[in-house]
Order: sequence, then C-alpha cells, then structure tokens
Amino acid sequence: MPSFSLDVISDDSDFAHLDYAASAPCVRAAAEAVQDLLPRYGSVHRGTGVRSQASTLAYELARDVVAEFVGARPDDTVIFTRNTTDALNLLARALPEGTTTVQFDGEHHANLLPWPNPLRLPTPSTPDEAVHALKRALDGLAGPVLFTVTGASNVTGEVWPVRELADVAHAYGARVVVDAAQLAPHRPVDLTELGADWIAFSGHKLYAPFGAGVLAGRSDWLDAAGPYLAGGGASATVGDRPGDLTWATGPARHEGGTPNLLGAVALAAVCEALTATDRTALHEHEQHLLARLRDGLAGVPGAVEVSVFGPEHPRVGIVSLALPGHDPAAIAQRLGREHNVGVRAGQFCAHPLVRRLTGGDVTGACGDTPGLLRISFGLGSTTADVDRVLVGLRETLGT
Ligand code: PLP
Repeated sequence: MPSFSLDVISDDSDFAHLDYAASAPCVRAAAEAVQDLLPRYGSVHRGTGVRSQASTLAYELARDVVAEFVGARPDDTVIFTRNTTDALNLLARALPEGTTTVQFDGEHHANLLPWPNPLRLPTPSTPDEAVHALKRALDGLAGPVLFTVTGASNVTGEVWPVRELADVAHAYGARVVVDAAQLAPHRPVDLTELGADWIAFSGHKLYAPFGAGVLAGRSDWLDAAGPYLAGGGASATVGDRPGDLTWATGPARHEGGTPNLLGAVALAAVCEALTATDRTALHEHEQHLLARLRDGLAGVPGAVEVSVFGPEHPRVGIVSLALPGHDPAAIAQRLGREHNVGVRAGQFCAHPLVRRLTGGDVTGACGDTPGLLRISFGLGSTTADVDRVLVGLRETLGT
C-alpha cells in the first residue's frame, strides 16, 4: 500500500475517481512541496536575493531528482516542459534536417501529430508483429531516423514492448523517444532499461498538479537545434543587430522565459517519493484492482473490453470498454450523476486506434465512432471504487 507521502489528497471521499489516465489526483508529497515553497519563492536564475537563490537551488534540485527518476546518463539533458505534448513537440522541432520519424498509428495524438516526415505503421496485433513491422520500415531508410512509441496505451493500458522495439531501432541506427505519459505513473521508467534515447511525461498524470512535464535524454540534437522558445534565459549573449546572438546550451536553451518553479518542484517531489517507495507493492495493489475490475466486467452484459495485443497482455490500471448499442458518453454521465463515479468516454485523443478497436473505418474522418468508455486508476484507488463502477455499469447498462 502507498506510503504516507504518496497518499492521495482529496476532500471528497465519496467520489470514485476512475479517470486517472486523464489527470491523476495530487499526492501529499507534491502538495507539501508546493506549500513549503509558497511563502518563500522568488525569481529563478535571475536574482541575488536569498529568495531567488533558494528558488534557483530548488529548481535545479528538482531537475536532479527527475534525472535520477529516469536514470539519466551523464550526458543527458532534463528539460522542464508544460506537459508531454509540449515535450514531444520540443523534440520534434529539434530533429536534424531530413529526419524520418516512424510510429504506429495507435499512438496518442501527442505522439502522432508533432512529427515531421512521419512514416505511420498500422497498429500491430502482437508484439512480434510490431517488431517485424518496425524492422521492415527501418530497412532501407536513409538519414537520421526517430522511432516514437508509447510506453503504455492511454486507451487499453497495454504496455508496449518498448525495449524490444528500441533494440531493433538502434540496430538500424535509429533513435527512440518513449512517450511515458501513461507508463511513468505505474512503472519505473529508466532510460537505459527502456532502451530510450529520450523520454517524455506529464506531472498532472504523475500525481502532481498541472503545468509541468519533462523531456529527458540525449543532449546532442537538443543543443544543435534552435531554441524552442526564443527569449530570455534561452539566449547567452545578444548583440545590437538582429541575429547577432548566441543561444545557451543545456536545458536553458529550451526553457525560454521564467520557468514553472512550483510545477517542477511538485513533480520532482512525486518522483522522489516514488523512487523511495516499494514499487512492487504498488504494482501488486494495482494488478489486484485490475483483476477485480476485469473479472467483474466479464459479468456485465453489453460491456466488451478492448485490447490491441489480447486480454493476457500486461497492462497498467486502464481498461476501455466498447458498449455496443449504447452511447458511452451518456453512460459515463449517468455513472457520474447517479453513482458519483468519474470515468471518461470518447476517443481519448487516439482517434485512429479507437476507430480500429471499435471496428470503425481507420481511414475515415474523426468523429465517425461512438468511442469507448475508459476506467483508469492508480495510487489511492480502492476495491470500493472498483465495486462502485461495476454496480453502476450493471445498473446503467441494464436500464
Ligand atoms: N501521451 C499519452 C499516452 C497520453 O495518454 C497523453 C494524455 O492523455 C499524452 C501523451 C498527452 O499528455 P498531456 O495532455 O499531459 O500533454
């Protein structure tokens, strides 16, 4: 069970929050880190006063904690961004000229849309098929290549075979970025173990409040690229004539403007608490809830669990349901109104994958599918939450 610093804070103990995959609740470690800093923060990287010095130190310490959380290598850069979308867009703008990007079409839009020169592969049905499809795609590609893959699907919760795919990518000289928005809240995310060159994730899905995310990984492409946001902080020297300037290197190059100190510190506090805790116990608790939910769903008429790799494939605490003959949005609304359960309905910013899973036309326009209903959970979730949604589904689907 979670340790104290990983207790979820909530003022509504009667609400069954089962929409963690969208935004997870805040844990005590993050709340306390913010509260501690509120009465004494000042500018970051910009002042000589005691508040500014302490804030700069807190910000850079947060970076060190995140570096440890992702197992950053000595030459890696950790950049604070707004969220995963921002982190992946940053990397997309930093790619060397002519880079081909390769990804499966089941990605979240944040890992589907930012990439230039995309080579989009159909979502495979098995991990082996994924490996073979990637090999075929990479064979013969010239110039720099970036393979972009999710760690865990935001639709099905299934864990992607990142390491196997990364090994293939590296064998062909390609680089790899892992979208860990859904993996990091549930599993350790080590760059070396994943075989990733970069990793991206969001604080608001990792039990910290909104507004901070991370891109961490290889420095060379990031240092060679123009700054993500031109302005103060990103510039090292600025002359009198336009264009007469030098840009900073390291994280500063891509963190133009005043940084989100509270966001970074909150996010790092969660990373620190997760690093210090027994992840095996958290994992076991989550898998217990997952099994209870899936067993219960098997007895709910009209609810069909969806998956890419099959029902036995490992997954994090996310389950999506097709509800043939029902409107998932209406069911989700009734669960909220009549059972005080928060779930999500729709296509979850993964339109091609949801169309495929619902038998829709994957080449058709967005919005031609009723979508799915998604149940997701994590730290602080209980068997009572799971039982509540099961009762709610039985009642709403039966009437
Ligand atoms: N990637 C995945 C797998 C996600 O689930 C999400 C959000 O749901 C994102 C990326 C985008 O995250 P954010 O909205 O925090 O930028």
